[in-house]
Amino acid sequence: MRTQRQVVDYSLQKRAVLRELLAGRVGTYDVCDASPYLKNAARFHGEPTDRRCPICRSENLTLVHYIYGDELKQSAGQARTLAELPVLAMTLREFQVFVVEVCLGCDWNHLVEQYLLGRDGLVGDSDGTSEQDAAGAEGAGRRRREAQR
Ligand SMILES: [Zn+2]
Repeated sequence: MRTQRQVVDYSLQKRAVLRELLAGRVGTYDVCDASPYLKNAARFHGEPTDRRCPICRSENLTLVHYIYGDELKQSAGQARTLAELPVLAMTLREFQVFVVEVCLGCDWNHLVEQYLLGRDGLVGDSDGTSEQDAAGAEGAGRRRREAQR
């Protein structure tokens, strides 16, 4: 997404958890603890992937996008479909997105990444266009003045 920034990738933490699991230092019950809320969010707002669950290897992972931020008011903390995010990103100045992967088969879940979205990230993009428009209008005005001479 165009306005995506301050991306934090949690794949290292995820690999560490999987290593602990392989080594038997944590049990699957510790990491396969998706709450009913998270699983519902995955069912209704989740983004299916073609990546296999690293635990049960029988289901594909679903990505859930949670949004947080003052501008969201009562929507803060809710899950949104991936398709809804660009729309929000054009309406709001800034909000945080947390991406969680969930397996609906074994309840494995882990934070994948977090990032900021919103119009604040459009560095000189929409502004650049309006500047160009302004310059264009100015040029047209100048041309008009020259034509009047
Ligand atoms: Zn699984």
